[in-house]
Amino acid sequence: MTKVRCLLCPVNCELKEGERGKCRARMNIDGKLQTLVYGKPCSVHVDPIEKKPFYHFLPGSLSFSLATAGCNLHCLYCQNWEISQSNPEDTVNIDMSPEQVVEGAVRNKCRTIAGTYSDPVIFFEYAADIADVAHKNNVLNIWVTAGYINQKPLEEACGFLDAIKVDFKGITEDFYENMTRGHIGHVMSAIKLIKEKKVWLEIVNLVVPTYNDTKDSFSKYCDWIVENLGPDVPLHFSKFWPMYQLRNLPPTPEESLIEARNIAMSKGINYVYIGNIPEHEGNNTYCPACKKLIIERLGYTVTQNHIAGGKCKFCSSKIPGRWE
Ligand code: SF4
Repeated sequence: MTKVRCLLCPVNCELKEGERGKCRARMNIDGKLQTLVYGKPCSVHVDPIEKKPFYHFLPGSLSFSLATAGCNLHCLYCQNWEISQSNPEDTVNIDMSPEQVVEGAVRNKCRTIAGTYSDPVIFFEYAADIADVAHKNNVLNIWVTAGYINQKPLEEACGFLDAIKVDFKGITEDFYENMTRGHIGHVMSAIKLIKEKKVWLEIVNLVVPTYNDTKDSFSKYCDWIVENLGPDVPLHFSKFWPMYQLRNLPPTPEESLIEARNIAMSKGINYVYIGNIPEHEGNNTYCPACKKLIIERLGYTVTQNHIAGGKCKFCSSKIPGRWE
């Protein structure tokens, strides 16, 4: 019986022959670690990039979005638990080679391909091959991830990704242990590495009532962002909907999201957004220098864009992001 160890994520599963990892997507087959999800997405959609959400990366564009079954975290409130907590043989999968994924993106006029819905970390090899073909066809690659990945594979991923959105779920180890079965330190290291590698980064915090919604936790969260990422990484506070094993909770009250945003802005974070409340002004981008509205959004639609050449049209201040 040859054991193998998977070093892709911090779970570092040691697998006997025939055993699969905690993510359900990788298995020891005949003494070799193999992916069970290569070329087998179970969810494929064309989404506005704002849905990911990315607000400073090709606004108003479409993203060819896909996921496979499985996930290396087990969040009690997962919004996509039907696929993330399933074995690949239990989902309805489509056979799609990397070339077919890119063809789909080009045919649908998508500027990016997004690994999303579950966590692209667990379909790493597939995502890497898609990215390779995509770049040859002038299509960019983005991930929506929890950032639960070891440093070496993350370095490799930073080489083929153009933007990463990390769901940084809370600011305490307790939160991570109880809600996700992961550990916060690995996520913090991943976020710092992405920033260091200069891959475009946005951060999302899903605000879960009674779990990560106190003034103190917003304050500590924002302090960590400022200290480690600076004031210019876009930060999104998103509304939670009762889901999976946390259906007993109410949705996040709007006041909590406004409080989080106010705290973040008071700490000097320049681009703070409110997610899942379509008409709130917290969906818009304001120039930190002249304070004018430079991108207006209604839900996932960009209704005004006053950025030209990466600068505010009103005062010419540079606005971080990729705009064209
Ligand atoms: S990616 Fe999956 S198999 Fe690999 S260490 Fe993480 S949970 Fe285990």
